Amino acid sequence: MTERVLVEIAGCRVVKCSSCHADIIFAPHRGSLMPIDAETHPAGNLAVIDGTYVIVRECNHPEMFPGGLRRSHFATCPAAAKHRKRA
Ligand SMILES: [Zn+2]
Repeated sequence: MTERVLVEIAGCRVVKCSSCHADIIFAPHRGSLMPIDAETHPAGNLAVIDGTYVIVRECNHPEMFPGGLRRSHFATCPAAAKHRKRA
């Protein structure tokens, strides 16, 4: 018996934020990893595709991104300031 849990989105592993315990994914960006909310959001501007992400500006065609659009976890985490300071 295995419990079905969401472990991966578009090639990015789903983890828990160490501060707020939200489900997030880490997508590579210029040599570092960018935390992104696992949940999609109507105001999201990031599309996660094949293990990385693209910033979608003025998305008038959300149907182009069937996986949905997400927000940076830096924008939504209540402890974002702490994240940034901890290297
Ligand atoms: Zn968080």
